[in-house]
Order: sequence, then C-alpha cells, then structure tokens
Amino acid sequence: MSVQALTTTRTSPYAQELTGSWIRRMTAHYGLPAQDLLRGILNGPRRVRVTGTPSSGLELFLNAPARAELPRFTGLPLAHLTGLLPSLATPELHGEDEVAGAAWRMPRQAWVSACPACTSRACSPGRPVLVYSGAAGHVCRRHQRWLLAHATKPVSIPLQTLPEILAAHRRHTVLVRTHACASNAMILAAAMVWSWQVQGWRLETIWQDRLHRLTAVTRCTPAAVVPHALLSYPETVAIAQLLVDGRWQQRLRETAVGAGIPSAAGVFFQEVGRRINRPWLADWLTALSRVSPPRAVQADPLRQWLHELTTANGAGGTAGWTVLPSALRPAEFIERAGLLTPGRARVVFEEAAAASLIGGWEPAAAPHIPLTAR
Ligand SMILES: [Zn+2]
Repeated sequence: MSVQALTTTRTSPYAQELTGSWIRRMTAHYGLPAQDLLRGILNGPRRVRVTGTPSSGLELFLNAPARAELPRFTGLPLAHLTGLLPSLATPELHGEDEVAGAAWRMPRQAWVSACPACTSRACSPGRPVLVYSGAAGHVCRRHQRWLLAHATKPVSIPLQTLPEILAAHRRHTVLVRTHACASNAMILAAAMVWSWQVQGWRLETIWQDRLHRLTAVTRCTPAAVVPHALLSYPETVAIAQLLVDGRWQQRLRETAVGAGIPSAAGVFFQEVGRRINRPWLADWLTALSRVSPPRAVQADPLRQWLHELTTANGAGGTAGWTVLPSALRPAEFIERAGLLTPGRARVVFEEAAAASLIGGWEPAAAPHIPLTAR
C-alpha cells in the first residue's frame, strides 16, 4: 500500500497516549499488521530500521528522521503530535540519524488502558487506547472508574461503591495542580501508610470495610487486593495534603526545634489520625514503638522529613522529600504481596495478574515496569 493510500484516513492520538497504542489503533483502518503500517509510514527517501516487534514491546520509540516522517503521513504538525505522544519527546534512540529508526520496547513509565466510556469510538477489539497515567491520570471521575493496565482490552474497577476513592482523587488532582512537590509528598505519604500496613494495620475497621467492597467489585480474594494502591489511596492523599501544607510545616518545624522530633511526630500523627478518621493512630504508633524501638532518623521517612524541616532548606525546597529505598512502598506488586502474605506471594501475584491488578498507577516516582513486562 502506498503512503498516499495510507493518508486517506486520520486517527488522532489521545493526550498522553503511547505511540505504540496509536499505531496499533491505526491498523484497524488500514487492515495491515502494525509492523507493516509502521514501515509504510517511515518509507520515505531514506532507509528504515525497525527493531523489536509489536508483540515484544507496547511502546514505539522513533529517532529524529522517523519522527520527521509523521507530519507527512498524518497531516498534523510534529509539535502537536509530540505534545500528545510522550514517547516522541524522549531521546530513546541515539546514533545513525541518517537512517529512520524505530524500536518497539516496553514503556518506561506507568500506563493504563484509558476509560472505555471516554474512548469507545476510538477503540476496536484488541486495540484499546493505552495512556501514561502520569501524576493522577488513573481515575475517570466522570464514569467513576479506576483504570487498570491491560494491553488488549480496557479494564477498570468501578468506583460507584467506593465514593471515598473518587473524593480522594478530586483532592489529589488539586494537590497536583497547586503543588510542584505533590508527587514527592505522595511518595512520602505512601511510605508512611505502607509501614503501618505491614505492621498490622490491614486488620483495622475502615480498611476491612473498603476491602470488602473492593473484593466484591473485583471478584478477587482479599490477599490479591490488599497490595493494590487503591486500598490505601484516601489515606495517602490525606497525608500528602498535610505534608505540603505550609502552615503545618511551620508548626511542625517550631515543635521539632523547641521540643524535639519525637514531639513533632506526635503532633503530626494526632493531626493525621483526625484527618483520616483514626483518632487512635498516635496511641497505636506509640504502643508499637514500645514493642520495637523507634526507627532512627535515617531509616524513618517521617523523622527524616521532620529533620529536614528544621534545616535551612525545609521541605518546601528541593530537600526533604528523599525517601530511602528501604522505607519506600515497594513499586512491584509481588514485593508487596511477599511482605503482606509471606509464602503465598506467587499465588497471590498470579490471581492479581489475571485481574490486571499488578500494573498501572502507583504513588512512585521511579519508572514502574510490571514484572510480567520484563
Ligand atoms: Zn470516562
């Protein structure tokens, strides 16, 4: 098929879409395998070099000569396409710029299948719209869905019975819009909630109630649902909101300087307990610390943050948000399952994978690549 014939139909990309998803969706119009369509698009005056296949990588990376062919094919300016397709803005492919080059690889960042109700006209069987979830693109509040990662069909968790998740997402999007440090605050908040989760908090009432509703809509066992980010999402957002609050930072700074970091931590936990409707939180953590000594400043993300608050930079600057790897909420589902259900991690992982619960959005900064995608 000639390029002229290929240009008769235009498939516009969605914002934050994987370029590989966009190419796959175009194949529905042309009746060509994705690899053949790609070679047709890039078949300009220069040679074409394609590595990998659509089955070996969901995302498509293009070098500069290959990107330059896209406007001719789509009729859309390259700047417009680059604004919609994040992979076009990454210098993934280097060297040999005389030759148009393309590579199918796994995405470097978390992705989800877009809301099926929002993208139904653009989808065809086996070719959903796949998008990077970014800071908070994992929920469609309009259609009340938590979006999951599945390469060949749109999969999501209905949130009609989980209104606290929708409310938390509303607060989360405001946080992202108003605070440049929102992602860092979410990572620190997630590390705190995770530390409580592994210390036995999974048995407490509010989570058990949410877990019950979550198992009902996912039809999964509790063990397969507990490691998922949804369960602790409202608490994580509430704590992140407190962490970025300048007035609270000032109060905690003054307490830490005047009465010490343990006192500031106590004030912090009292306020967190009030905001997440667990008035017993501070007492529970105090009781826990009697059983096992409080972690050193270097190993405890909250104490580390409070310590940074008392320095010249404070958490409002670039310092203060670093969470040591040992304290982070594990990015991989199987690591979380291993810590929550020792000895059963593989079984739990397989059940969760079948329900598309292992990938997708996480409150993590590091590139997140699901284990099965390696
Ligand atoms: Zn939607």
